[in-house]
Amino acid sequence: MGSHVVPNAQKPHVVCVPYPAQGHINPMMKMAKLLDAKGFHVTFCNTVYNHNRLLRSRGPNAVDGLPSFRFESIPDGLPETDVDVTQDIPSLCESTSKHCLAPFKELLRQINAKDDVPPVSCILSDGCMSFTLDAAEELGVPEVLFWTTSACGFLAYLYYYRFIEKGLSPLKDESYLTKEYLDTEIDWIPMMKNLRLKDIPSFIRTANPDDIMLNFLIRETERTKRASAIILNTFDDLEHDVIQSMQSIIPPVYSIGPLHLLEKQEIGEDSEIGQMGSNLWREEAECLDWLNTKAQNSVVYVNFGSITVLNAKQLAEFAWGLAATGKEFLWVIRPDLVAGDEAMVPHEFLTETEDRRMLASWCPQEQVLSHPAIGGFLTHCGWNSMLESLCGGVPMVCWPFFAEQQTNCKFSCDEWEVGIEIGGDVKREEVEAVVRELMDGEKGKKMRVKAQEWRRLAKEATEHKQGSSVVNFQTFVSKVLLKE
Ligand code: UDP
Repeated sequence: MGSHVVPNAQKPHVVCVPYPAQGHINPMMKMAKLLDAKGFHVTFCNTVYNHNRLLRSRGPNAVDGLPSFRFESIPDGLPETDVDVTQDIPSLCESTSKHCLAPFKELLRQINAKDDVPPVSCILSDGCMSFTLDAAEELGVPEVLFWTTSACGFLAYLYYYRFIEKGLSPLKDESYLTKEYLDTEIDWIPMMKNLRLKDIPSFIRTANPDDIMLNFLIRETERTKRASAIILNTFDDLEHDVIQSMQSIIPPVYSIGPLHLLEKQEIGEDSEIGQMGSNLWREEAECLDWLNTKAQNSVVYVNFGSITVLNAKQLAEFAWGLAATGKEFLWVIRPDLVAGDEAMVPHEFLTETEDRRMLASWCPQEQVLSHPAIGGFLTHCGWNSMLESLCGGVPMVCWPFFAEQQTNCKFSCDEWEVGIEIGGDVKREEVEAVVRELMDGEKGKKMRVKAQEWRRLAKEATEHKQGSSVVNFQTFVSKVLLKE
């Protein structure tokens, strides 16, 4: 079915609802574009806050849409503020789950009252926006939940309730949060081998029985069972066993990633839809010009994603550790990366490294990670970042910050063999040593070979007609969304 032959009024109509953070909006936007290319009419529903940010960072074109690709917004329910709310994850989770259903239902009602758009025929919602299930059930349309995590991270969340049953969470009080506790062996999650409690998504490390994130994830994973299907931004070769093990406890799971490769394959970059972006910060493309002047595999790339916040001490340790490696590096420091006003990169560090670094506040990361000059990535292990790194054939130093980043770190070091972990209590000597190992050491070389092998498999999954993600995507669209 091609969008150019089917009149708009007869198209299937998908409403896409991302969770309001960058790492969720990006993959949902890719899904929306892919469905547009399959002939769907698309409504993309951001929160009002992010809708306005897109408008500010990318201009009106970012939210004008096209005749068959419309942008809408609903309030996130939080009080208006100047502070960036995309970093306050507990407040966002609490607020969206409590306040978004009513405006979302109203939006659906308004859409379905319009003459010039086809009626809503399915909903594609982030797994952490499961309030949308109630609206889909009321409307009698299928709903697919998109968990934008790794499969291994998602599987660990699915077993969160067992940590409660086993008395491993919540803790009696904070004093129980010891090394011994974090080293507790976890050998009862199927297909997850050699795990310690420290590798499980971080929200279980709480002494508060009312902890918002712990309770939120237990609730959202339970509600996942009501979806028509689940999609994951991963690929079979990478996480086959883990994906199989969840098939028996939740609705059918389709692995259809890496989505940025599938998007490249299916949608021309020069097309109107291909040009549509979803970054909430303005990208500094100069990074790419700078990288163009550098030798292959020579540059260390440092970026902690959209949510991580460092303290001034951590920032200084990373800075001096990087300086000591003598390597060239590209470091993306978001304006709000560091907590506290006085926290700045040390002045002497800036002068000392002036001729061999580029600093930016936000970059076009997918392009950076596929640039031949990048030799290694110091990352917080956000799932999108890890996938983009694997697809660029780039090995990693892993400094997981929170959520399922701990699980991603464990899998990338031990299962996929593309990462070296760095201690949570970051020290400059350790940064220097692991970055040197990553760029020049024997282990670094082995990891680079492994990463390139994963890149080959990721391309195979998304570029070939019989690639696992191509086939899964096609099956998911026809069976679940179109009910053919
Ligand atoms: N990103 C980007 N430029 C930056 C930093 C991040 O384009 O300077 C994008 C990155 O490509 C990824 C997303 O923002 O798609 C971050 O998601 P991730 O899951 O890696 O981490 P999170 O921000 O959710 O912690």
